[in-house]
Amino acid sequence: MIHSLTDTVTLNNGVNMPGFGLGVFQVSNEDTILSVQNAIEAGYISIDTAQIYGNEAGVGEGLRRGLAATGKKREEIFITSKVWNHQLDYDQTISAFNESLLKLGLDYLDLYLIHWPGNNEYLEAWRAMEALYAEGKIKAIGVSNFAVHHLESLLAVAKVTPVLNQVELHPRLAQKEVRAFGKTHGIATEAWSPLMQGQLLQDETILALAEKYQKSAAQIILRWHIQNDIIVIPKSVKKERIISNAAVFDFSLSSEDLAQIDQLDNGTRVGPHPDTFFFE
Ligand code: NDP
Repeated sequence: MIHSLTDTVTLNNGVNMPGFGLGVFQVSNEDTILSVQNAIEAGYISIDTAQIYGNEAGVGEGLRRGLAATGKKREEIFITSKVWNHQLDYDQTISAFNESLLKLGLDYLDLYLIHWPGNNEYLEAWRAMEALYAEGKIKAIGVSNFAVHHLESLLAVAKVTPVLNQVELHPRLAQKEVRAFGKTHGIATEAWSPLMQGQLLQDETILALAEKYQKSAAQIILRWHIQNDIIVIPKSVKKERIISNAAVFDFSLSSEDLAQIDQLDNGTRVGPHPDTFFFE
């Protein structure tokens, strides 16, 4: 379990990844600049973007401004991006990666993910990612939205085991099967939409716990993730929320209260299902 905003999880290839970061899905390029800068100034050292978000240039600019404001070095910030579904053959993945680097203004990425498995195009994309990894252009490679059967097919041919699987995960979709498989195979689990895109913030159980611990609903949910060893990347464009979402290291949920939150799991998704999304 991580104990601070800059605490890291050691991935299966030895790379240390911060257990808490900022997400920038559905944020304009312009707003991304300030969000990323605010996050770095607030002490965040990990940012999650993707080719499809259209804001990699904003992440790059926000990163440069954040570094200038804090005196931190590029190497101290962990940057993740992802290859989108229409570019999963070998050459396309290589060029998508190079375009992402160019937009970000970086010469390497910390983590690069296959965004969605699609049908089975990910096998080609993975070969390309292994090549980029071997060249040292990416520090770690992983996947996103992979169900257990996708991971099994990938592991059957992969030379490099993915370091993590980034999936929709929150108290209403606890992803126990994916987490258990990951644990057995050394694949860390990272939650996207850790706050269920805000939909869990009015939940009665969460609100009662917020009252009990004198914390916000978002802080209760994020603490549940952390105590379950799940890497989180909550998104906010609001400076005060960016700061308060990360103020989750001065309290602990009791095992009874963690169990209460566990009971909210009813398989509800805010995003698409990996077995049906982007089949063409
Ligand atoms: P989150 O669960 O992080 O929720 C974000 C929403 O919650 C926003 O509407 C935000 O509004 C609001 N919010 C954040 N903090 C608070 C707070 N303290 N109080 C009240 N409201 C709050 O959803 P995301 O879908 O953005 O997921 C997080 C990240 O995961 C993404 O940004 C992206 O990086 C990644 N992701 C990856 C996917 C994948 O397929 N791999 C898919 C989806 C997301 P506001 O900004 O106004 O504060």
